[in-house]
Amino acid sequence: MFHSVVDLLFPADCAGCGDPADTLCARCRRRFAGPHAAVRRSGSAGLPLTVTAASYDGPVRAALLAYKERGRRDLAGPLGAALAGAVAAVVATAGEPTAGVVGLVPVPSRRRAARRRGGDHVARLARRAAADLCASGRPAAVVELVRLRGSPRDSAGLDAAARVLNVAGCFGLDPVRFAGAAACGALVVVDDIVTTGATLAEVTRAMSAAGLPACGAAVLAAA
Ligand SMILES: [Zn+2]
Repeated sequence: MFHSVVDLLFPADCAGCGDPADTLCARCRRRFAGPHAAVRRSGSAGLPLTVTAASYDGPVRAALLAYKERGRRDLAGPLGAALAGAVAAVVATAGEPTAGVVGLVPVPSRRRAARRRGGDHVARLARRAAADLCASGRPAAVVELVRLRGSPRDSAGLDAAARVLNVAGCFGLDPVRFAGAAACGALVVVDDIVTTGATLAEVTRAMSAAGLPACGAAVLAAA
């Protein structure tokens, strides 16, 4: 609450470069203007078709950290728009659905991280992205289909093989969301950052095992 009042009184500088012009200046926004080519990583068996909006460095890294860790909710708009662009690119590559909406399936945050951040930041970005897609004439909705059922460690500092083991079996599907997911014309997994792709591979594996395969994944930035 205090932060939002302060933000109203003193609009924040660009979270990417510090320019006082805007919450995210035009130059920094362009860095999210991918979508870049789909990433495929060696050592990430099962990584779905993945489109990223940006590379995770410089102002992109600064903006994402400000949004995630420093409560810069004012970035949800531009970051959500960037995610919407990546989702549209996934759907265009995988094939437009002939019926039904595009379902955005957020990768869930670890509970402790979500509590610290005042909510699940990926789900919030997904809602903004879905609203942008709808506004541009492509019906979309968020389906919070995937739940964490294990307790993966923070993956920072783990190598590729350890990351695969860290997330194995950690994701389950929420049965309450099955019907909503099944009614979608296409399902796209969404996340903020892809590193080795182990998480995306595990999430899409769990979805396929339940008969709800994703047509790909859209991610804000590739590390
Ligand atoms: Zn900037």
